[in-house]
Amino acid sequence: ISSYFYTMALPAGEILRKYFGYDRFRPLQEQIIQSVVSGKDALVLIPTGGGKSVCFQIPALMLDGVCIVISPLISLMKDQVDALRANGISAAYLNSSQTFSQQQAILDSCYRGEVALLYISPEKLTADISLISQMARPSMFAVDEAHCISEWGHDFRPEYMHLGALRERFSHVPFVALTATADKVTRKDIIRQLKLKDPGIFISSFNRSNLSLEVRAGVKPKQRLAEIAAFIRQKRGQSGIIYCLSRYNCEELTSDLRMLGIQVAFYHAGMSAANRSKVQEGFLNDDLQVICATVAFGMGIDKSNVRWVIHYNLPKNMEGYYQEIGRAGRDGLPADTILYYNYADLTTLNRFAAESGQADISLEKLKRIQHYAEADICRRRILLNYFSENLNEDCGNCDVCRNPRKHFDGTHLVQKALSAITRMREREGAAMVIDVLRGSMRTDLKEAGYHLLKTHGAGADISSFDWQRYLMQMLNLGILEIAYDENFALKITAQGRDILFGRTKARLTVLPLLIRKVSST
Ligand code: ADP
Ligand code: ZN
Repeated sequence: ISSYFYTMALPAGEILRKYFGYDRFRPLQEQIIQSVVSGKDALVLIPTGGGKSVCFQIPALMLDGVCIVISPLISLMKDQVDALRANGISAAYLNSSQTFSQQQAILDSCYRGEVALLYISPEKLTADISLISQMARPSMFAVDEAHCISEWGHDFRPEYMHLGALRERFSHVPFVALTATADKVTRKDIIRQLKLKDPGIFISSFNRSNLSLEVRAGVKPKQRLAEIAAFIRQKRGQSGIIYCLSRYNCEELTSDLRMLGIQVAFYHAGMSAANRSKVQEGFLNDDLQVICATVAFGMGIDKSNVRWVIHYNLPKNMEGYYQEIGRAGRDGLPADTILYYNYADLTTLNRFAAESGQADISLEKLKRIQHYAEADICRRRILLNYFSENLNEDCGNCDVCRNPRKHFDGTHLVQKALSAITRMREREGAAMVIDVLRGSMRTDLKEAGYHLLKTHGAGADISSFDWQRYLMQMLNLGILEIAYDENFALKITAQGRDILFGRTKARLTVLPLLIRKVSST
């Protein structure tokens, strides 16, 4: 028996107009709201700026009881609550910065049914779970930044792990998990860890076709600085962000650019809160054209007219890269992005990844962005493929599309690889697949009986380094995918099967001569 019932005084569209001032829903918003209001769990993947918040804020107003919003960004809670209140919505937040009596007062007003949305940090919630269930009758739970629950996500937070227990305790209350970035494995993990029950899965397109994509490889620091300065001058009056790897890089680049007469400030987590908000304000008000920042900058910043983003250094993974370039062009107008890619950064990032708590995952994720940076096919196809979305044609708005590489009919080559993978029952990673294709007699290969396969040695005419690059093309084209949770085994996608069975052809890129070798994979 359902212990709560709905008060659908106003339809969702009316609430959107009345409280938020918008005329129509964006794609998926309405379906998500209807699904949640009907009591179902949901997993929502919408890129930053896509409008995730109303997907739980509107149900919160339609359902009886308190919608509990779990958010890791304590610093943003107050802003979010203030914004809701300014729209006439009764919202409150609980976190450890408040006194006991303040917290008590908030819980009391929840109890009296005066609060529609209660924002709370995950540590607070799991520490006080019984208190909250006494005081507030939850209508639903919204888990924001849900990827934090997964070690496969790019921002794992152990506090999130306890949310599964919450789900068990409130098994009849709908849970909505929301995130801007989660690859396939992370999605599965979110569903598993939060124990979502047959959730509605809502994934909006990750394609931001107004963002141009460009990678500049191997540019020396002096030249990089000159290029960036020239670029900024050309973008007179248009705001942009330069992302750097370290605080030191930020400050140094800022002073170098200032020396070249460019008005710029830096932003990183080592600054005082007052200085940070001063810089942020300056940028939001268009007093400041350029910011050199670490990844600390941008979370929760809603500035629609950022016209360009430069990555001075390679980001740690595709998730981070996607979010950071996504801060440009939120108004939908054209915006430019440039990624500088060089060997020194790769070495540094490799070391960081190897020393991180989750070395395997971090290294694998780094490898994927490395391959993006080194790719010979449309970059947008790779980016979208990473998030399991297929783009059926080249985008025309990336550097590879603008300077096309040469192509050839690679059907036969792809079939060789796929048939080897099939014969190994899709259980092996790239290294073993390549050794089988090349006819290696490695001990463990023989122990597995792979030297008896028909495809053993079928690709001996291609070097193992080139096989690596072809397999990467196949991954990037969506012919293969990596099962991260099965020892990085290569799996054949539906598109791959069409090629294997001769239903479609594979168009590969002629491997360009490399200036240097890709770091060993
Ligand atoms: P996210 O959490 O996905 O990053 P937000 O929920 O903060 O995005 O929404 C981003 C911006 O889009 C906000 O300024 C929000 O008010 C606006 N927005 C949300 N839904 C709509 C809509 N249906 N029509 C117009 N603007 C909207
Ligand atoms: Zn392209």
